[in-house]
Amino acid sequence: MGRKTIGRIERWTISLKPEIDQLLEKVAKERGLNKTDLVESIIIEWAYNHGYNKIIHFNFRDNSITVWDYLLNETVDLHYDSVKKTLICSRCRTTYCGHVSAAIKIPEVRQKLKKGQIVVEDL
Ligand SMILES: [Zn+2]
Repeated sequence: MGRKTIGRIERWTISLKPEIDQLLEKVAKERGLNKTDLVESIIIEWAYNHGYNKIIHFNFRDNSITVWDYLLNETVDLHYDSVKKTLICSRCRTTYCGHVSAAIKIPEVRQKLKKGQIVVEDL
């Protein structure tokens, strides 16, 4: 289930209360991610929301937006679900993550939001 890692990675061990571990396990299972990918997604979301990550490049296509994630050093695809009118992040497998929240700050995406062509889930 985990993705192939390109480049150098840092490994470290953390200690969590069982309740937190179980919560991560539950959410990871719901999203179809492993816990490492979920934790990375959570950290990326935090980074975007606190100015530690930025979108320096994006491509806007009919049904997807490809963003360059500066921290991950890779592209991330956000697919537009025309039925639900939501953006789904292919990496985080959710409609709300750092990539989606960063994408909705892009003027072209904001316009679609204003017109109701895209609906973004609130937390
Ligand atoms: Zn994401």
